[in-house]
Amino acid sequence: MRHALIRTATLLCLALPLTAAAQAPVVNLYSARHYQTDEALYANFTRTTGIRINRIEAGDEALLERLRTEGRASPADVLLLVDAARLWKAQSEGLFSPVRSESLEAKIPASLRAPATADGIAWFGISTRARVIIVNRSRIAPDTVSNYADLANPALKGKVCTRSAAHPYMLSLIAAMIEHHGEEAATQWARGVVANFARAPRGGDTDQIKAVASGECAVALSNTYYLVRIMRSDKPADRDTMAKLQVIWPDQGGHGAHINVTGGGVLRHAKNPEAALRFLEYLASDDAQRYLADGNNEWPAVPGVRIDNPALAALGAFKADPLPVAALGRSQAAAARLIDRVGWR
Ligand code: FE
Repeated sequence: MRHALIRTATLLCLALPLTAAAQAPVVNLYSARHYQTDEALYANFTRTTGIRINRIEAGDEALLERLRTEGRASPADVLLLVDAARLWKAQSEGLFSPVRSESLEAKIPASLRAPATADGIAWFGISTRARVIIVNRSRIAPDTVSNYADLANPALKGKVCTRSAAHPYMLSLIAAMIEHHGEEAATQWARGVVANFARAPRGGDTDQIKAVASGECAVALSNTYYLVRIMRSDKPADRDTMAKLQVIWPDQGGHGAHINVTGGGVLRHAKNPEAALRFLEYLASDDAQRYLADGNNEWPAVPGVRIDNPALAALGAFKADPLPVAALGRSQAAAARLIDRVGWR
């Protein structure tokens, strides 16, 4: 019996290093980021750490649904989402395993991450984007629009285009309006915007940019990286588009331009939690922050990282809304009710 035990123990000792050698360290990533330029970001992680990345990309909602269905059996270690409200939703469903990380806590500002609890922090923003107003210079004088509130000005009747407000980018902007002005005032504003529509909401941000350039609409909203992508393009059509537009930094005399994040966290059922945390910490490294800024035209979440993106820099300095992005999650349900009331789908 004793011999048998010893023999089993010996076999186990032999077997473990073999298994470890056979399985290179890996991190399984579910990502809602939809930007081809992220390839270099991931390759650099594998090159520097030896940890392979298995990646599944899908929309935010599809990934959340998949995680719910998979439950404990989920192979996913890290979840990356492209909107603070979605991160908050994942957190409130208990999908994340809060972590403690000296480097992440030192680098990522408190306003760009989940609030700390006794267990740690559920998710961290890794890059920021702003939601700006774009106008067609030949259709209206650009100085007639300077705030989000102006989109509801009756003078813009028949001139405003937006994507569906059911999209997270819009829901989060509306959540910020609720946080700053209250639900009643935000509802009135939304009614005013809907009354000014040039057409029923459709398409994504790039479609709004094109509709403004074509003159179908005079005013629209877009995340900054879609604009910078066009600004960096050599295609004549894209140069033509930018020549017709003026980018307006909203609310510079008030709360500041609406900011959102891409961010991520370690998942509750992660099978590789150490590699997962290492990957998150990597995303806050100077190298990764530069990949995010230069590749997808976002701003680093980590203050003071030097980037080399002249088109992004050309957007100029601006006042960003200091509202903690976690608050966008807090008012998300109210924002969803609001858009139903005013018919902004
Ligand atoms: Fe996007």
